[in-house]
Amino acid sequence: MTDNSPLRRMADFDLTDTQRQVREAVREFAEREILPTVEQHEREGRYPRELIGRLAPLGYLAPLIPEAYGGSFIDVVTYGVVCEELARVDWVVASAVSVANSLVGSSILRFGTPEQRQRWLPPLATGEILASACLTEPDGGTDLSAMRARATPVDEGWRLTGSKVFISHADEAGIFLVAATVDPSRGHRGVTMFLVDPSSDGIEVSPLPMRTLQRDNVAEVRFDDVRLGSDALLGESGRGFPILGAALDAGRFSVAARCVGQAQRAIDLTLPYARERRAFGQPIGEFQMVQQKIADMICRTEAARALVYRLGRMKDAGVERCSMEASMAKLLASEAATQNALDAIQIHGGYGFSMDYEVGRLLLEAKTLEVGEGTSELHRKLIAEFGLGLR
Ligand SMILES: Cc1cc2nc3c(=O)[nH]c(=O)nc-3n(C[C@H](O)[C@H](O)[C@H](O)COP(=O)(O)OP(=O)(O)OC[C@H]3O[C@@H](n4cnc5c(N)ncnc54)[C@H](O)[C@@H]3O)c2cc1C
Repeated sequence: MTDNSPLRRMADFDLTDTQRQVREAVREFAEREILPTVEQHEREGRYPRELIGRLAPLGYLAPLIPEAYGGSFIDVVTYGVVCEELARVDWVVASAVSVANSLVGSSILRFGTPEQRQRWLPPLATGEILASACLTEPDGGTDLSAMRARATPVDEGWRLTGSKVFISHADEAGIFLVAATVDPSRGHRGVTMFLVDPSSDGIEVSPLPMRTLQRDNVAEVRFDDVRLGSDALLGESGRGFPILGAALDAGRFSVAARCVGQAQRAIDLTLPYARERRAFGQPIGEFQMVQQKIADMICRTEAARALVYRLGRMKDAGVERCSMEASMAKLLASEAATQNALDAIQIHGGYGFSMDYEVGRLLLEAKTLEVGEGTSELHRKLIAEFGLGLR
């Protein structure tokens, strides 16, 4: 896609000059430094730790962390553009930024004590440490009010016991944001949030073999009678559910932005292929049925992008509780990314499955984002309940 193409014009239409420049700069860096490594990292199951660290001096690692803590605080829309462009080339690098900023950094910034902010935000902003969010449990991730990981108050702190699964970046993280309950019978009123040093005694991180994202260190994390100081508590005991809600609201924005990047990547790979691949004596892009797929890929991506940018603008304008809009953006964008990957594979024919082409890898990576940070079913339920006035 050239700079003055109608597609780029639409994607950039209501961005400021600075936001467009950030897009250009992140895209240039991502294509030059990250893209050439992705397939090899995936084959070798190697986590891109070094690449993630290199985002910090460029200001792309901590776009939501204020400068006072070493971040490069920018507006939410620009942060979305950063996530979009990183995800266009690599799910894992984009996820590391999204977890560190949206889920963990924002929670500390908003709900942490001055001491917690001072302890955790500077190393997160400089890339000295990475972050993981430990929310999902073996018995369920959708119903977070039913979590079993147990936090028990003890002298001068807490004891933490339980298991979390599918935890991205866990083996590399220097901070865990952990959700636990002080009393399972209290449902969401028992949920309590903690900031945990992963090197604490009693924590075991075991890699989870996955069908995709070999380069992501997805892991199970076990907490076996882990002793935490009272300074590990984020917010108040039994008042963690709103913190979790705010973190997921923020997370869903960045996940939606990442999905737009992935959907865009499928288009960017498919257009040149459809121009060059020939059948029946003509480029396949001249067949109407191929064109129909391309048209749908473009439309659903732009529709998702419009929702994501509008959500970002609402957040920049200080609108509180954009939960319905966050669900809408995340739902539409994640399904767009998956459908675009499917259409891209179909247009690539047999090469869609070849290791020499990227589109096959995109499919499962996109599908994970219809599951993570709220499944499509959960978001449809939330949107309908907001619409019906049940929330
Ligand atoms: C690659 C990857 C990375 C991940 N990274 C992290 C991470 O870093 N940290 C973390 O905490 N988690 C992470 N997850 C976990 C993810 O958030 C959960 O898988 C997700 O929340 C769903 O939980 P579950 O797998 O337990 O499914 P379940 O909750 O068991 O749901 C199973 C199915 O039932 C459906 N369902 C459940 N309730 C309802 C309902 N009320 N109405 C209709 N349908 C319903 C769901 O939509 C789903 O289709 C990751 C997952 C993946 C795939």
